[in-house]
Amino acid sequence: MLNSIRNAELQGKIVLCRLDLNVPIHNGVVLDDTKIIRSLDTIRFLAKNHAKIIVLSHLGRPKGVDKEFSLAPLIPILRKHLDLRIEFSDEVISDKSQNKVNELRNDGIDLLVLENIRFEDGETENDPQLARNLAKYADVFVFDAFGTAHRAHASTVGVCRYLPAYAGFLVENEYDKIITTLKSSYKPKLAIIGGSKISTKIGLVENFLESVDCIVIGGAMVFTFMKVQGIEVGKSLVEDDMLQTAKDLMVKAKNLGVELLFPYDFLIGYSKDKPWLENDIPKVVDSASIPSHAMGLDIGLRTIQLFKDQIQKSQTIIWNGPLGVFENELYRRGTEQIGRSVISRAVSTIVGGGDTVYAIKFLHDSLPPNIHISTGGGATLAMLSGHELPAISTLVDNY
Ligand code: ADP
Ligand code: MG
Repeated sequence: MLNSIRNAELQGKIVLCRLDLNVPIHNGVVLDDTKIIRSLDTIRFLAKNHAKIIVLSHLGRPKGVDKEFSLAPLIPILRKHLDLRIEFSDEVISDKSQNKVNELRNDGIDLLVLENIRFEDGETENDPQLARNLAKYADVFVFDAFGTAHRAHASTVGVCRYLPAYAGFLVENEYDKIITTLKSSYKPKLAIIGGSKISTKIGLVENFLESVDCIVIGGAMVFTFMKVQGIEVGKSLVEDDMLQTAKDLMVKAKNLGVELLFPYDFLIGYSKDKPWLENDIPKVVDSASIPSHAMGLDIGLRTIQLFKDQIQKSQTIIWNGPLGVFENELYRRGTEQIGRSVISRAVSTIVGGGDTVYAIKFLHDSLPPNIHISTGGGATLAMLSGHELPAISTLVDNY
């Protein structure tokens, strides 16, 4: 259990609230306000409980102060959604910001947004001086930036040393749902893994080998596993420096009694951008028959059925990684069909990974309650890999 804001003493307090407002901005216009909208519950709760709020977030990866990465364009959106007196300080640690914090204390305003925390040098180095200076503004710290929880920065981990720290609603929800599914004792437990590179998913596969009964593998990473078994994969993506790793993982799976399922068939193309069409649809071949000048770009129908049968048998499901090049609609079917199958199965499920979540976004509106689509990207992957998230460790309630 995390130390929740529900248990915090908030009345009359100044709360430093670390959010993930890293939204896409072009020419000063916010292109997608999802992250802002998702943060409103926590802000409203703080305001309703008579706290004054300082909002802190990063945006992009600026090198020092760079107004292209300013949080200023977010202010009109916050004002539109919140019935609060909101101000912006175009600096982080400064007398100007301190004056605005004083206005919060004196009830002149309700919410203050500080400028992009990554404009401060010490942020990504978790500089204690920066953390102390941030903490000086406030009485309480709330962490609700799940997407940054795997990074030990001054505004995520550092400040917790100097203020009582609590989890906001987004962090609490993500953490509880992911832990519940990872620890679920409902078996058989299935992991579905796809995506581009085995090298970015080794921790994930290793962790799943300890806890699941079956792993189905698709996406580009499957070709490294196939090549190691002596199967001709044509021009499909292979990470040659990962062949030994793939071999080791297969041996480990065998020793642990974890079933590994590989595709029976693939939709192929000449390259990622050049489909191999027959009667206007991508050509399908058995997995052992990929021509030398072609690459596997999606799983075929027989594989979809194989994976669906496994999904139907499972009581817990964890999924990361698209099963094909979903960006091209010709090679999207595998990922979509598996998405539909997982959601209609409606057992305890986590779906994570930036591309995976994006690829099935058309399904997000019809989710059963036990299916959690995690928006944490790297933080979600770290959790699924069994790593502790530094910004969350400090919020675990041990009492
Ligand atoms: P996530 O962000 O969900 O963790 P990844 O970043 O690991 O997923 O992988 C997503 C990428 O994998 C997508 O860009 C997709 O096009 C690519 N991909 C999936 N299958 C294949 C394939 N067979 N060949 C090449 N690329 C693939
Ligand atoms: Mg990705």
